[in-house]
Amino acid sequence: MRAQPTASHFVDGRYLEDAAGETLDVIYPATGEVIARLHEATDAVIEAALSSAARAQADWARMKPVERGRVLMRAAAIIRDRNRELSELETLDTGKPLQETLVADATSGADALEYFAGMAATVTGETIPLGQDFVYTIREPLGVCVGIGAWNYPTQIACWKGAPALAFGNAMIFKPSETTPLCALKVAEILIEAGLPAGLFNVVQGRGAVGGRLVTDARVAKVSLTGSVATGRKVYAAAAEGMRHVTMELGGKSPLIVFDDADIEDAIGGAMLGNFYSSGQVCSNGTRVFVQRPLLDRFLTRLKVRTEAIALGDPMDEAVQMGPLTSAAQLDKVMGYIEAGKAEGARLVTGGTRPDRPGFYVTPTVFADVTDDMTIAREEIFGPVMAVLAFDDEEEVIARANATEYGLSAGVFTRDLTRAHRVVAQLQAGSCWINSYNLAPVEAPFGGVKLSGVGRENSRAALESYTQVKSVYVGMGPVDAPY
Ligand code: NAP
Repeated sequence: MRAQPTASHFVDGRYLEDAAGETLDVIYPATGEVIARLHEATDAVIEAALSSAARAQADWARMKPVERGRVLMRAAAIIRDRNRELSELETLDTGKPLQETLVADATSGADALEYFAGMAATVTGETIPLGQDFVYTIREPLGVCVGIGAWNYPTQIACWKGAPALAFGNAMIFKPSETTPLCALKVAEILIEAGLPAGLFNVVQGRGAVGGRLVTDARVAKVSLTGSVATGRKVYAAAAEGMRHVTMELGGKSPLIVFDDADIEDAIGGAMLGNFYSSGQVCSNGTRVFVQRPLLDRFLTRLKVRTEAIALGDPMDEAVQMGPLTSAAQLDKVMGYIEAGKAEGARLVTGGTRPDRPGFYVTPTVFADVTDDMTIAREEIFGPVMAVLAFDDEEEVIARANATEYGLSAGVFTRDLTRAHRVVAQLQAGSCWINSYNLAPVEAPFGGVKLSGVGRENSRAALESYTQVKSVYVGMGPVDAPY
């Protein structure tokens, strides 16, 4: 508990409390205990966040990009130094096992800070010759950006949004999920320690309504949401009122296709990573695992053995591989989907139970004999529930993989690389993997098509998300006016 933030919000360079805001209890998912009591942002807190961000952004945008990058680089170094403490906090916030948080959360945030720190000074415009006249372009920051996070990767999401926003000269106001409010406060604290001027990265807590207030404020130029499609629709519509820029990182029901020539252990490893990591609470998970029929029995036999060997337990124990779900509400939702799977005729291969311990645990679950029309094959579950579907040929599986309103991710396991590229080219998804799954390095663009979202995070593509182009026409001769 040593690492806990000292107040609910972080605004204008310091922790800020306003006990007039409604209470938000932070619950440790492994025990169900309340570990912190925060307050929702009041109007005064929201106003302080907006006005300090608007003030600070103007100066920050004028600073040399290499200097902005230096601040972010220092923040990344502090994060790496304090990785264990930040990982423990991430585990308290989310319930994810320390074995994961030590390698996938603060470190991923540091990667983003380093990547965009380096990129800050490489941003240039272009010159467009027009005879004696010419046009030059300037990449300008958008201004005050709002980031709204989901509860599965609170540190990573804060950094994936904050790092490019800050690198390119914007300010960011971040609203974490009410379920996992602690980690982003630490990111804010560390950025200040690294030399970020006050007001540029503010964190305000609250439920959806606080996010709604931020999204509709006239001082806000851009909104980046990580969340569900339902929330995405609301936030996108609210942002449209003010013609604000948006990035929408939303949900998925992604296909993972295993051809019968695949390395079976690799394919099973990919399917397990793509369904059980973070107790299955990963947006890009390959939750529809299509296995070509000749491989199916062997696949299921080995998958069952490997799944039943997963060490589930106290997430603070580094030997533990799977912790609880993040909230009681999510547990209820996941158990409801497991019941729907059984009721609709899917065959439970393993799991589907609640272990006899406190906290929001569910055992890793595999269903076989799943058909495309079943609820568990159509809806995002966001829990450790894998649906295995049989297929016969390539054309058929591509059509079935694409028969969803989502389009976040997709994966293919095969030793035939020609086939792998041919299949991937036809899959409707923003992020695809061949013979791997769910790796999302900052160097690679990340985002979805169809209902899974708009825009891309990470990589050079993030430049488009956090800047706009100004073009300047320079007349070199007399003005040719017909009047
Ligand atoms: P959620 O319920 O959609 O909430 C996301 C965030 O939006 C939360 O901070 C939420 O606040 C806030 N919010 C809710 N209503 C709002 C409104 N009207 N205006 C502004 N903000 C509002 O999602 P979640 O349950 O936290 O996360 C799970 C979902 O996120 C899944 O669908 C998952 O696939 C998706 N996800 C996508 C990605 C990606 O990169 N594509 C990554 C991770 C997760 P409260 O929590 O306080 O209600």
